[in-house]
Amino acid sequence: MDVLAHVLYGATMCSRTGLAGGRMGAGRKWFADRTVWAAALFGLLPDALSMGLPFLLFWRGGMQGHFFHDFGGEALVHYRYAHSLLVALTASGLLYLWRKPLFLPSLAWPLHLLMDAFTHGTPGKFHTTLLYPLSLWSMDGLSWWRHPWLVAAYWLALPTLWLVLHVWRRHPVTRGL
Ligand SMILES: [Zn+2]
Repeated sequence: MDVLAHVLYGATMCSRTGLAGGRMGAGRKWFADRTVWAAALFGLLPDALSMGLPFLLFWRGGMQGHFFHDFGGEALVHYRYAHSLLVALTASGLLYLWRKPLFLPSLAWPLHLLMDAFTHGTPGKFHTTLLYPLSLWSMDGLSWWRHPWLVAAYWLALPTLWLVLHVWRRHPVTRGL
């Protein structure tokens, strides 16, 4: 899944303004809801942690070659750790104990990994090894960069989710359920 979609899905699913806020929502404007920003950051985190620095170096070097094609070595190990459910759930567990307000938004990290597991296929170095470093097992998902309809589907699902959420929160018939 592309990075921007990860950011938006994180904020949509794991913020109080979004689905995690249930029928009540955050009770304030979305931009004043800190869980929106935190969830967006946690949605970005796995790719930022592993690809941020290599991309900066690639950009500083005049963008020679092909970033994803040449991505490997140490950076790929960082990618595996950042895309491990074991790492993500440990981080969420620690936040639950020490920074409870960040627990809910932090779930955008494991959400990113699950969405990658379904939208990154094998063979290919970007398959999602959810149990790394214990195992290199990965799901055989559909690679989004090879299936434009998949990109269209998950982008279309976003406004649909917000519309459903809006109707659910506003519609008088469903109030009180
Ligand atoms: Zn990712």
